[in-house]
Amino acid sequence: MTSSTPIVIIGGGFAGLAAAVRLVDSGRKVLVLEATKAGGGRSRSFHDKVTGREIDNGQHLMMGCYHETLSFLKAIGTPIDQAIHFQRNLGLTMIKPGGGRIELACPPLPAPLHLAAGLLGMRGLGVLHRTAALRAGLMLQGEIMRPDDNETCDAWLRRLGQTQAVRGAFWEPLIWAVLNDDPLVASAAMLLTVIERAFMSTRDASRLAIPRLPLSELYVDRSVALIRERGSEVRFASPARQIELDSDGRVSGVILKSGETIATTEVISAVPPHAMLELLPAPAREDLVFRDVARLESSPIVNLWVSLDRPILDRAFVGLIASPLHWLWDRDRVEAGVDAGSRAAPSRGPSLLSVTISGARSFVNDQPEALRELFVGELGRFFPQGPTPEILGFRVVKEKRATISHAAGTYRRRPETRSPIPGLLLAGDWVRTGLPATIESAVQSGHDAAAVLR
Ligand SMILES: Cc1cc2nc3c(=O)[nH]c(=O)nc-3n(C[C@H](O)[C@H](O)[C@H](O)COP(=O)(O)OP(=O)(O)OC[C@H]3O[C@@H](n4cnc5c(N)ncnc54)[C@H](O)[C@@H]3O)c2cc1C
Repeated sequence: MTSSTPIVIIGGGFAGLAAAVRLVDSGRKVLVLEATKAGGGRSRSFHDKVTGREIDNGQHLMMGCYHETLSFLKAIGTPIDQAIHFQRNLGLTMIKPGGGRIELACPPLPAPLHLAAGLLGMRGLGVLHRTAALRAGLMLQGEIMRPDDNETCDAWLRRLGQTQAVRGAFWEPLIWAVLNDDPLVASAAMLLTVIERAFMSTRDASRLAIPRLPLSELYVDRSVALIRERGSEVRFASPARQIELDSDGRVSGVILKSGETIATTEVISAVPPHAMLELLPAPAREDLVFRDVARLESSPIVNLWVSLDRPILDRAFVGLIASPLHWLWDRDRVEAGVDAGSRAAPSRGPSLLSVTISGARSFVNDQPEALRELFVGELGRFFPQGPTPEILGFRVVKEKRATISHAAGTYRRRPETRSPIPGLLLAGDWVRTGLPATIESAVQSGHDAAAVLR
């Protein structure tokens, strides 16, 4: 094989494209194989006929602590300041049934004082509950309160003496959002990594960062252009069928579904776990590492896109307390970059709402009519004031395997970047990055794989 033989990267989502960009930047040749026509994987956008808009497969949120992602976006020339709206300070509005609000507004103090002050000053929550949250923060300093990966969030929050009210207003929305799983099963250790990274490091790390552009415009188109400019290749609608191994068990090529074989000794698999296993010859799947991968479970997300005759939110997004509809996003405000904490009056005219149902096991098999009924019911419960808005368009996007499940005890089954097969590196949000399966984990995994080959 010649030195010009490319590194084959299978998968054109955040992980694969981040790996490719790092490698072409250091002068390596890559060939990205992407199964679909447009790439982007679980973070993609497309034109939707029902709403008449360019929509994402689901609203994605980033944070100031997404350092790898921000460095990737800079590398591909995304104008960060225009493309992403950064909150000035961490702020959240949660709505209670009946329409009452609980507001977290962190002041501009150094971390973690900003969060402590924010929790203590939470409007709409009794003082007992606010001090319980603060006490949890102080207790985290002691080793004994650190969870291991076998402890669930639910058990841990009970150990930390968290009241039901503060769980509902702060902890549970956070868990559903970052772990995409039920607090009753999700790993507390995984939650703690997020708390430490996002809330305990710097004030900026905890700011929410909301993409204003459709996701494909944010990163797919730009990365593909850059990879091609550097003389490397990205092939869409080119699914890989199998990774070929030589008689010593080393990578020797990739066979495409079209029947073509590409000779290479270096492959980065940047596809989800089930797709990676399908790429392996059957005997290779017997390795313990891959058997653990086969035991990773997934957790769905259902996203509703609803065109309404008028806006119902007075800010970019809100959370609903104790509702299966976890977050509501006013897409027009998101695209305009209006601060999530802004109290500006709702604009007039039709409005596009995006609704996130995380860990949506109970809803992922529902028909659109049932989800529409659920939406209308929750709208009446949480926004009882004023006339009910008219639904002009209703679109459901289901992601059955949105992320791996972060159930307690899962982390040890996630594989390292270097696989047991010489020449095969593993990337994807689900590999062992120390993070939950998020964009940041995907990009980190791509950068880690590239670092091995550069
Ligand atoms: C609805 C939803 C909302 C989310 N919200 C957030 C959020 O707010 N914040 C956040 O950080 N994360 C969020 N996530 C998670 C985030 O989208 C993922 O962590 C990230 O997109 C994973 O990227 P990836 O590159 O690892 O995998 P993927 O995006 O799955 O990319 C894998 C690619 O491989 C391709 N592929 C598969 N098999 C083959 C094959 N045989 N040959 C060639 N190509 C193949 C696929 O088509 C795909 O393009 C959300 C996910 C979903 C689904």
